[in-house]
Amino acid sequence: MSRTNHDLFARARSLMPGGVNSPVRAFKSVGGEPFFTARADGPFLWDVEGKRYIDYVGSWGPMIVGHNHPQVREAVERAIRDGLSFGTPCPAEVTMAQAIVDLVPSIEMVRMVNSGTEATMSAIRLARGATGRARIVKFEGCYHGHGDAFLVKAGSGALTFGTPTSPGVPKALADLTLTLPYNDFDAATALFDALGGDIAGLIVEPVAGNMNCILPREGYLQHLRALCTQHGALLIFDEVMTGFRVALGGAQAHYGVTPDLTTFGKIIGGGMPVGAYGGSRALMEQIAPTGPIYQAGTLSGNPVAMAAGLAMLELIRAPGFHDELARRTRLLCDGLQAVADGAGVPFSTTRVGAMFGLFFSAERVETFAQAMACDVNAFNTFFHAMLERGVYLAPSAFEAGFLSAAHSGDVIAATLDAARGAFAQVRG
Ligand code: PLP
Repeated sequence: MSRTNHDLFARARSLMPGGVNSPVRAFKSVGGEPFFTARADGPFLWDVEGKRYIDYVGSWGPMIVGHNHPQVREAVERAIRDGLSFGTPCPAEVTMAQAIVDLVPSIEMVRMVNSGTEATMSAIRLARGATGRARIVKFEGCYHGHGDAFLVKAGSGALTFGTPTSPGVPKALADLTLTLPYNDFDAATALFDALGGDIAGLIVEPVAGNMNCILPREGYLQHLRALCTQHGALLIFDEVMTGFRVALGGAQAHYGVTPDLTTFGKIIGGGMPVGAYGGSRALMEQIAPTGPIYQAGTLSGNPVAMAAGLAMLELIRAPGFHDELARRTRLLCDGLQAVADGAGVPFSTTRVGAMFGLFFSAERVETFAQAMACDVNAFNTFFHAMLERGVYLAPSAFEAGFLSAAHSGDVIAATLDAARGAFAQVRG
């Protein structure tokens, strides 16, 4: 079989929809063809043709200690010797539950699942089961995986019910999902004033990382907390992306807001397919088998996945780990801003912890509408110019970027060197 990127993609396209197992990997948004990774180490990916890339995607978030970290790899190797899956409880599940409870302020009990999507779907079921209410609230531009309830956009007009964004999502189900503009205080108040008694839960990415990277306005998460408390709805923080990344205790620790339920994925799996959801004992004990709300999984709490996640959690607990990552993320963002300013390209960045956003717009971006109004063509030119120079950014203008502990000062300096040429190309 051919080993060039192009030949592999041609073959992949004949065998899998779009040639991929997850849509964004296909480069549809930026144009061109994806590369196929042969191996990864530290801050780098190598494609099947031997080209090296500095990677700011980090497997879409999990790789916060860098790729192929020896401690994570060795933990997996040790676990594998004892078998791949047992179907009974195993000790690593207890250690993992304890680690999550210790690290995340709002969590007293946790349930492991196999992906972020499973975590958010299960959290919504729990919110509905616990409150006896059917409606949920989400935010335009926030992504919570591909569960039916989340593939919904705002209907036309204020306070209308949601409409599906994908064929296959029944309209009757979409009607139960209400959609709000992120960072809009008054819209949230108005929605709860009108329908608060029907709302089971509000789910939010506390830092929005799926419409580029948008930080919550001062007091916004507190406002959502107050509304949910006032109306008896559950506040659900989707920390699949932010968990263990923006701070050791996630966005809830960083911003000092306590959700009722939290969902996780990415980092807690250490690169293996893992998700989790958790909250207070009173809520979590409503899940089967202690309670009536059903949720299960053949491979949930898998011993190999737990070993990978635990090794990663161990590494990120090192004193100062997140502060150092935040410092390097600032170095990268400030550096890119200086290069863009020097080239005369309208550009701005956002960042929190080891997560950042790059916007081809001169203004500070705080809303979905502003993110949508950025210059997508400029981003696409920049993306390809960086890729050509060996720097891999997320292949869409609407994704957050991720830094890892393996992104040293030298790696960041090499990125800024590449950016000089890339911004010049954007300016034209
Ligand atoms: N929630 C958020 C905030 C995410 O960013 C993602 C995936 O990127 C998900 C949920 C879904 O997770 P998964 O892709 O593991 O199903």
